[in-house]
Amino acid sequence: MELLDGKKCAESLVADISGKVAGYVGSGLRKPHMTIILVGKHAPSESYVKSKVASCGRAGFASNLIRLPETITETELLGKISDINNDPGTDGLIVQLPLPSHINQQNVINAITPEKDIDGFHPANFGRMALGQKAFRPATAYGICKLLQFYNIPIKGKHCVVIGRSNIVGKPISIMLSNDFDIGNATVTLTHIETPRPLLLDETRRADIVIVAVGIPGFVSEDMVKEGVVLIDVGINRLEDGRIVGDVDFANVAGKCSWITPVPGGVGRMTVAALMINTLMAYENNFNLV
Ligand code: NAP
Repeated sequence: MELLDGKKCAESLVADISGKVAGYVGSGLRKPHMTIILVGKHAPSESYVKSKVASCGRAGFASNLIRLPETITETELLGKISDINNDPGTDGLIVQLPLPSHINQQNVINAITPEKDIDGFHPANFGRMALGQKAFRPATAYGICKLLQFYNIPIKGKHCVVIGRSNIVGKPISIMLSNDFDIGNATVTLTHIETPRPLLLDETRRADIVIVAVGIPGFVSEDMVKEGVVLIDVGINRLEDGRIVGDVDFANVAGKCSWITPVPGGVGRMTVAALMINTLMAYENNFNLV
């Protein structure tokens, strides 16, 4: 068993980005700039935002974090997004999810201009991605692709099973790996909560690659996968004792895998790295550098 080390891969990608940024800044351009909006106080969001800001620093980007109160109305938040959409000094905008329940998340995603949508959640980017066109690809799914590519994991022609169909992880990764992309051409099965258990087991037990994003600690057990499987654990679950674990029963499953992502230090790090790639792309688009 070998680890798909998201920290190592992310550091390598961010080092490449910072080299490019140094060249751009050296030629007189401003730094790429990421703006993050954080609504209310949500402990996991605080930690995700902190790591995004830190990664911006390592990539040579400027960043600013806008903290808004939990009580902000949807209209006020949409107004703030509109201001940033129109600000030529910001290349990429993230509205950290989840939002308070009185705010409609999809309205907020739809309000971010697709040109600054570095999370890749806007329908325009999702649609372009699905059609195989140039787009900001949804960051977690893109990060998984970059991690597989970094470790030269064969994907073309492989059978991949995705567990979970969320708009931010399961659905986009299933599309991306099945598309005729540079990192793709797998045969993909997407499973979800209505997938009957015997069918789920049939699929996962013959899969070459399993990607799980359900948010249930220990969901993937040893008996669910074949010997030599490549296992990507997207889950980030906080246990009552404070530990962070994924969706895989790592202690019992890892021995059966050829490759497996750790949690933490796996996909989470790659999500942030993909945001850096997308921000650089937004910046290069703005300055017609590509
Ligand atoms: P989500 O929106 O809650 O979606 C979970 C998905 O799992 C849903 O599609 C659900 O099916 C499916 N599901 C639930 N129980 C299932 C079961 N018993 N069998 C098969 N499918 C089942 O979650 P998410 O946003 O994708 O996140 C999933 C996990 O990944 C969470 O732990 C989250 O914290 C983590 N995450 C990590 C990163 C990262 O950067 N590492 C990024 C995003 C999310 P239905 O659609 O039918 O309900």
